[in-house]
Amino acid sequence: MNPETSRRDFIKTTLGAGALALTAATVANADTAPGPQLDKKLGIALVGLGYYSTDILAPALQETKNIALKGIVTGTPAKEKQWAEKYHIAQNNIYNYENFDRIAENQDIDIIYVVLPNSMHKEYTIRAAQAGKHVICEKPMALNSPECEAMIAACRENNVQLSIGYRMQFEPHTQELMRYSREKVFGEIKYVTAAAGFVNRSAVSHWKLQQSYGGGALMDMGVYSIQGARYSIGAEPLAVTAQQYKTDPERFQVDETVTMQLEFPGGALANVMTSFSINTNILHIVADKGWIQLNPFSGYRGIKMQTNKGPIQLADINQQAAQMDEVAWCIANKQPMRVPGEEGLRDIKIVEAVRESLRTGARVSLV
Ligand code: NAD
Repeated sequence: MNPETSRRDFIKTTLGAGALALTAATVANADTAPGPQLDKKLGIALVGLGYYSTDILAPALQETKNIALKGIVTGTPAKEKQWAEKYHIAQNNIYNYENFDRIAENQDIDIIYVVLPNSMHKEYTIRAAQAGKHVICEKPMALNSPECEAMIAACRENNVQLSIGYRMQFEPHTQELMRYSREKVFGEIKYVTAAAGFVNRSAVSHWKLQQSYGGGALMDMGVYSIQGARYSIGAEPLAVTAQQYKTDPERFQVDETVTMQLEFPGGALANVMTSFSINTNILHIVADKGWIQLNPFSGYRGIKMQTNKGPIQLADINQQAAQMDEVAWCIANKQPMRVPGEEGLRDIKIVEAVRESLRTGARVSLV
């Protein structure tokens, strides 16, 4: 059965009339990659073969229609052999961090995906751009706004596109939520609660627990909470006030739990939280004509949406496959990115203001 038809049938049979009216536009627009399939897949190289590349991105690239895994960049020789065998990667398309820049000569690679510790995003994005390759860079974009600006400038100067790995923006329930906000389906949004955290059990030596690598909850899951508040309200915050809490200051040299209040134009407020010691993943939106809740809101699969008018169930897609397919389609068709570098920069500017508020205890203006 056509998946569109089955989704429509599901919505018709499972949801009441009120909910159906809410979902009508989504049925038409929630497809993952816009436009038709490309005649030829673009080639992508993953830089950094850690958890996210190994467990999530490489498997997702087995499901993509517009892009194929053609290259790898790794500092670990054992991984070269493993990946070459598993994913049929040509020897000429395998690089290490020293000879990476030679990728400029490689016609098989159109896009470089930077999946390294946060402190390395800037260097590898700029080197990729200078090699003439389009770039996807993982979130958080970089350590601070000057780094983000340098990455955006390098891509612009080298005439390549840059996208940040905010996979939720390719997810149907999230896109539907953005439509509710844009079209005021539930009226004006007044208040958002966004919380994303997990119990981080990594060794203290892990880069995610090191300040110099851009570790800490705020840079890890915090940017999802900030994104959630921003895309729920559909506006940019005017000011932030933040607080932090540590149950284990010895283990957490980086931030452990951070809360913040974001003030938006028109009086909307967001209470945002992130943590390395609390498991939570929820987005709750209160509008003047109802409410919407996504729980979880930023998991890889199984996003669940509830509203005061009933549940909204859309396709549970492979977000990373959708993300990379759309990025490839837009590059091939010279269309702008859904999540350009500027979007990563917006969150980093908020992170910087949060840090200033934590340091001074004051409300920090963002305008
Ligand atoms: P990881 O530690 O598992 O992998 C990092 C890789 O970088 C490893 O292969 C490591 O060998 C390599 N590396 C190269 N030089 C290094 C150095 N000097 N120090 C440490 N490692 C070095 O991390 P990960 O979880 O795969 O995260 C990588 C990036 O992906 C991060 O920016 C993270 O925020 C992001 N990420 C995004 C999502 C998402 O859902 N979008 C999920 C997980 C991770």
